[in-house]
Amino acid sequence: MEEIYPGIFMITEKRLLSLVTPPSNLYVITGHDGIVFDGGYGTKKALQSFVKEYRELESSYKLKGKIFNIDRVLLSHSHPDHFAGLNGISKKLGLKILLTRQMADHISSAENYTHQYREENEGSISSGNILKKVLVKLLYSLADAFFIKLYGISFLSEFEIVNYDKLIYINDEPWQIIHTPGHCEDHIALYNEKTGVLFSGDNVMRSITTWLGPPRSDIGSYVKSMKTLLELPKLEIILSAHGSPVTNPRERLKEIIKHREDRTQEVLDIIKTAGNSGISAKNIIKKMYTKEEMFKRLSSRGWVSLTLKQLIDNRQIDLIKSKKDPIYVSR
Ligand SMILES: [Zn+2]
Repeated sequence: MEEIYPGIFMITEKRLLSLVTPPSNLYVITGHDGIVFDGGYGTKKALQSFVKEYRELESSYKLKGKIFNIDRVLLSHSHPDHFAGLNGISKKLGLKILLTRQMADHISSAENYTHQYREENEGSISSGNILKKVLVKLLYSLADAFFIKLYGISFLSEFEIVNYDKLIYINDEPWQIIHTPGHCEDHIALYNEKTGVLFSGDNVMRSITTWLGPPRSDIGSYVKSMKTLLELPKLEIILSAHGSPVTNPRERLKEIIKHREDRTQEVLDIIKTAGNSGISAKNIIKKMYTKEEMFKRLSSRGWVSLTLKQLIDNRQIDLIKSKKDPIYVSR
């Protein structure tokens, strides 16, 4: 636990599998009407580590005769390393869960949650034979069970709705809930104009580039969200869901926007070089990363496919269907 800004504490959860999925930061804004920002993982170890540090913080406040009164937890976006812990935290600490309507629609039931990741594949399943359908369903339920365990997911039945681009009062101070889609369509940032403190969730991190991939990310919205944050009247510090705080907010935001523009240009240049015969997504990735960079090849699939979609939407490239993988040609 660290006091990252006067009255704001960062608690990084402990994880058994922190190499597989990075630990999340949860933030506690202390005071007479404070708040917890984000819910983290719902696994036993993650929850216990957060609650232990939260209680220590509470005790240290009370020992000093300072008021420590918190009854809310607000979610950044509906990815499992952020929402899975909400039920546990809410029960153990007696906090109300605050969600936007869009977040609630995604995580109030297992059915709604899995559906958003399945939509793309459903067409191909219904066209297959019965054996294929049964096998695919079995694989899906195995995958669901694995992820539920990995993140400690539980779905939410009790919550209150907050609205995008509205103010929320924390210790009588106005904070703005800014809709910042891109990484995830229901992502928010929480911002205080007086201090210039911004909670960015997964959208802005100090040294990691956020994950972007289908079906819930969108590059155009992401860049637009970064530009919205860049225009905020005062920006002192950005507190991220993973990693340490961003102490050069405007520089980092500009760097992220530039990085996305460079990446898009890189993909476009590779397609142009391929000429009339075009190139598949798989081969674009092979041109960017060597065989040794296997992990990069794998993790780039998401943003490359979104970049291709964006280039098609902008009428800069065309997609040609072929017997094998689709081919992309410059216009
Ligand atoms: Zn996320």
